[in-house]
Amino acid sequence: MGVFRAMIARTFSAATSRSLRVCVVGSGPAGFYTAEKMLKAHEEAEVDIIDRLPTPFGLVRSGVAPDHPETKIVINQFSRVAHNERCSFFGNVSLGSSVSLSELRQIYHVVVLAYGAESDRVLGIPGEDLSGVHSAREFVWWYNGHPDLSQLAPDLKNTDTAIVLGQGNVALDVARILLRPPAELATTDIASHALAALKESSIRKVYLVGRRGPVQAACTAKELREILAIKDLYVNIKQDDLQITSADEEEMKNSRIRRRVYDLLSKASSSSQTHPSSGQPELHFTFFRKPDKFLESSDKSGHVAGVKFEKTTLKASAGSGNQIAAGTGQYEDLKCGLVLKSIGYKSIPVDGLPFDHSKGVVPNIRGRVVSSSDVGQPVDGLYVCGWLKRGPTGIIATNLYDAEETVTSISEDIKKKDLTSEFASGREGLLQLLENRKIKVVTFNDWEKIDSEEKRLGSLMGKPREKLTNWKDLLAK
Ligand code: NAP
Repeated sequence: MGVFRAMIARTFSAATSRSLRVCVVGSGPAGFYTAEKMLKAHEEAEVDIIDRLPTPFGLVRSGVAPDHPETKIVINQFSRVAHNERCSFFGNVSLGSSVSLSELRQIYHVVVLAYGAESDRVLGIPGEDLSGVHSAREFVWWYNGHPDLSQLAPDLKNTDTAIVLGQGNVALDVARILLRPPAELATTDIASHALAALKESSIRKVYLVGRRGPVQAACTAKELREILAIKDLYVNIKQDDLQITSADEEEMKNSRIRRRVYDLLSKASSSSQTHPSSGQPELHFTFFRKPDKFLESSDKSGHVAGVKFEKTTLKASAGSGNQIAAGTGQYEDLKCGLVLKSIGYKSIPVDGLPFDHSKGVVPNIRGRVVSSSDVGQPVDGLYVCGWLKRGPTGIIATNLYDAEETVTSISEDIKKKDLTSEFASGREGLLQLLENRKIKVVTFNDWEKIDSEEKRLGSLMGKPREKLTNWKDLLAK
């Protein structure tokens, strides 16, 4: 309790009575870029970032693959933002359960929702709930030590084959983690439980399955090159799948990325061995296959034993310029003991928030949340940024432009109406409310203790950090 009092006292002395009280929900890239831009654009702004986890940085900590340390360097920039005297981080504060959206809107002049996409798209086909079928997000959270999924324990020992559904960069990440020699992961910040499981894994064959063709594969060239470069990997791409039509040519003419991905796949196909040698890790790119149902093992134990696919062909989609997958009525089964569905993340709405369930985003105009009852009307003081705003696409830097747009909208609205003339209790109001509800807030200072402990544990193991992977340990710091 002393900590609360001290924080509140400090807040009172630092904040002027005319502070613009801003709350950013979510401490991933969209949240931190928004906070940074708000602090820069508005000297009178006091920005509080809340996150349901005790740790900051969202997808940079829980989503970026452990063997991509260069992508995580942005954490230094976000930490500088958190150290700004007008900025605070409050972890273990969950929108919806610790504090409601309507309460936040009363406490702050401006609320920016940037809490991302913490769920998954579903296929809606039979067998999706069999054991051994996981979303790629669950698998990623597991190997990245996210406290909600450190207990996932995917079974990597009772099968030699995994099927990854989807061919985006997340699909490539999970396939790479399954196929890379574990010794190469041992010096990354991968969670220890995941490294131990991967060391014992019997999976050596991964099918990366796309419902469309090699021209439409959703991954990017850099990530594709990286997986193709895995040591001693046998790569299989059927020559027939590489046949292209004039519509494919047109798509490649309009996208350099598509062209480069197709060229890399063609090159990999022509330079690969004809057959894998015994025990060699295998990566099979399988195109024109749409998942139809998950097959259960013959012992009826509820475990997945394969996927039934419908073969597809491409057809033009009116207006979009893209081609879509159409079923042919022909089917093929692929056996496996593990399935990772990597077909996209999905945002979750909270009470009182307008939400477009079909697109999985908050309806907005340039970041201004628009009302669902009073169609098209902006909701006063409520904004959105990141995956919750535009859907689960784009790289970390995409959020920089996204935050710029949302902050520009906020600034335009502030010019029209001086929000600071209205009372908002801001930081002290939030902390008082959380204190009344006995919620243990994790400050940035507390996070730095977790950070030091993780780095200390990591140094004992030759890793950059050994993550604390359960709530109890994280909240004990
Ligand atoms: P994504 O790029 O949108 O890929 C989704 C994949 O799922 C596509 O292959 C898509 O096929 C397929 N799919 C969707 N619905 C399907 C269905 N009903 N049946 C079968 N297949 C279906 O999404 P992501 O891989 O989750 O990545 C999310 C974002 O994060 C992307 O922008 C990605 O580039 C980014 N990211 C970047 C990195 C990096 O830079 N290293 C790493 C990870 C993620 P269709 O194309 O046919 O729809």
